[in-house]
Amino acid sequence: MAISPLMPVYPRCDVRPVRGDNCHLIDEDGTRYLDFASGIAVNLLGHSHPGLIGAIQQQAETLMHVSNLYGSPQGERLAQTLVDHTFADTVFFTNSGAEAVECAIKTARAYHQHEDGDSNRTELITFTSAFHGRTMATISASNQEKMHKGFMPLLPGFQYCEFDDLAAAKAMVGPKTAGFLVEPIQGEGGIRPASQEFIEGLRAICDEQDLMLVFDEVQCGVARTGHLYAYEMYGVEPDVMASAKGIGGGFPLGACLATEKAARGMGFGSHGSTYGGNPLAMAAGSAVMEVVTDPDFLADVRAKGERIRTRLDQFIGNYPDLFDCVRGAGLMLGVRMKVESRPFFQHLRDKHQLLTVAAGDQTLRVLPPLVVGDAEIDEFFEKLSAGAADYDPGAAG
Ligand code: PLP
Repeated sequence: MAISPLMPVYPRCDVRPVRGDNCHLIDEDGTRYLDFASGIAVNLLGHSHPGLIGAIQQQAETLMHVSNLYGSPQGERLAQTLVDHTFADTVFFTNSGAEAVECAIKTARAYHQHEDGDSNRTELITFTSAFHGRTMATISASNQEKMHKGFMPLLPGFQYCEFDDLAAAKAMVGPKTAGFLVEPIQGEGGIRPASQEFIEGLRAICDEQDLMLVFDEVQCGVARTGHLYAYEMYGVEPDVMASAKGIGGGFPLGACLATEKAARGMGFGSHGSTYGGNPLAMAAGSAVMEVVTDPDFLADVRAKGERIRTRLDQFIGNYPDLFDCVRGAGLMLGVRMKVESRPFFQHLRDKHQLLTVAAGDQTLRVLPPLVVGDAEIDEFFEKLSAGAADYDPGAAG
């Protein structure tokens, strides 16, 4: 058989969406799915947000792309919004999460390779089960062998430490350490929030030894937890942070945010991207930020997250053989299962038209659009209950 015209790197399923309708996706054959996956934490305003759609339409009619060699009023506007609402002083825009992490890695290394730095400090300590993207640097930053297979050699400069183990992280720091790269809440790894002690401890080590604390908030950032960024929950600010996914609401956009001090090595000519920060992407990002920086919007995400979590906690008690626990924050929730989560996620999708996402550590990710309403939350629980009631783990797979 001939190879698919799409390089066959994804195990694509039979759901073939052609239209979105707020929190639902409609398939080629007209089947309606409840979308509690949001393009894996991307479509935070759902599929029909007039503000986001209007901003993209208007910008497309006005000016879609210009080179980064010109001044960027659109980029300055969005960067200023991010600076005003976060720890950061400066922003580099990218087209994806992996590129945002790449920029964050380069920023952390360049901090030390600056004339006032210690150029031996080239290594970042990263954590088990992390996911930072699929470029060579970002797969090298993860210990997950399934992502390495076929792509050796990995890039040097990363050391893997047990996630959430502060003593191990402390013990690993040496003369070559540039800093830590960590997801405050692991996404692909199974919606695993780092402990308060761990995040505070990493910050303290960085402060003591002049190292870079780099947060990967590609999945947990942009209001997903009910805070603009998850670091706010911990009360611990990073030096550098990667953001993407939700920040464009579905338009490909990422950002690397840094303090002025951390960005000291990122001078003229040190980094670049043809498309990064183009006017169309900036219009999408600005439309998203206008919504998600509203304190009432964030409070609503937290309240809905609490409601779903409480109901999930009650629900899983009915199926003690199937479900273990619920974890996460806001509308970034994971149900850890006692059996493999992937067959159950397939069952919900194929038999009950409910879209969720499977993750590591036998976890089912529940990532609804942040604009989800009570009717969709009720529909979610109806489908989930029906799915659990007619699920046979022995027959699945
Ligand atoms: N970092 C984290 C935490 C992610 O979850 C992802 C994607 O899932 C990435 C980085 C990579 O983002 P992208 O797929 O946009 O390159």
